[in-house]
Amino acid sequence: LTTENPSVTFTKSGSSRPSRIHCDFIAGCDGFRGVSRSAIPCGDVKEFSSSCGFGWVALLAEVPPSSPHVIFALHPNGFAAHMGRTPQITRFYLQCPVGDEISNWPDDRVWEELATRMELRDDHWHLTVGRILEKSTLDMHNSVLEPMSYGRLFLVGEAAHVVAPVAAKGMNLALYDAERLAQAFRHHYKQKDDVGLQQYSQACLKLVWRYQEFNQWLGEMLHTPNSASHESAFQARAQRARLHRLLNSQSSAAAFADIYAGPTKTQYINRSVE
Ligand SMILES: Cc1cc2nc3c(=O)[nH]c(=O)nc-3n(C[C@H](O)[C@H](O)[C@H](O)COP(=O)(O)OP(=O)(O)OC[C@H]3O[C@@H](n4cnc5c(N)ncnc54)[C@H](O)[C@@H]3O)c2cc1C
Repeated sequence: LTTENPSVTFTKSGSSRPSRIHCDFIAGCDGFRGVSRSAIPCGDVKEFSSSCGFGWVALLAEVPPSSPHVIFALHPNGFAAHMGRTPQITRFYLQCPVGDEISNWPDDRVWEELATRMELRDDHWHLTVGRILEKSTLDMHNSVLEPMSYGRLFLVGEAAHVVAPVAAKGMNLALYDAERLAQAFRHHYKQKDDVGLQQYSQACLKLVWRYQEFNQWLGEMLHTPNSASHESAFQARAQRARLHRLLNSQSSAAAFADIYAGPTKTQYINRSVE
């Protein structure tokens, strides 16, 4: 990886002989469990990681959305979410304890919990139930590798950073990295300019940490603290105050919208050239 001609070794499916490609650069786009990040020797990158302290039951159901809107519900039993995907398919999430098993979530319990956590006092809204197509549990965690490059290997997306899917930023960050790296390669080959490659990690990490912080803030606001201790009762009240400020202050709502929807791509590319 640190030579002028790094290489990737792979075995084609159906073949028993490994092949090798030599190249100028390697883009490591193979996710959190891929080989790119583990190819970097220990000590040459630092990993910063944290657990969110909650898990999710992630569901995909063959049911029309029960609302045209994304719904994030806060309930003493835990967070629940509803997101229409197509006119026939809806995604749902339910907060669960870290390490929970999917066998603890039979379909009947899933629909009951979704209905309970998303119930409205005025009763104008009803949850449409149907066939569950996919169901899994995931422990929510975050991780960032610094720097996002080693020699001629450039890490892209979850090979470099995982952001728990609370604020839906993971794929957005992966696309931002890819765009940034493509632009740096263009400058290298067309203008013999390597500034983009040299600044790749630093520029991407700025956005990664911006979204990690936002994701943590949103996660804390939306999820029910998971024990009945004195401290979690304190946290629950602070959480409500945060939500109240967001719903009742225009400047808070505008700041939230700015980071949630995000500025345009051009604004980001220009901002991070600084
Ligand atoms: C439940 C859930 C909901 C989400 N919702 C959103 C959302 O709404 N919005 C959003 O922006 N993000 C969301 N995300 C995050 C998003 O899915 C990821 O951030 C995104 O998929 C990361 O893309 P990636 O290409 O870096 O990694 P991956 O999607 O993990 O892709 C890596 C690819 O590399 C391949 N690979 C791995 N190892 C090798 C190897 N040795 N050889 C060849 N290929 C290999 C894998 O098979 C895979 O295809 C969600 C994540 C989860 C878990």
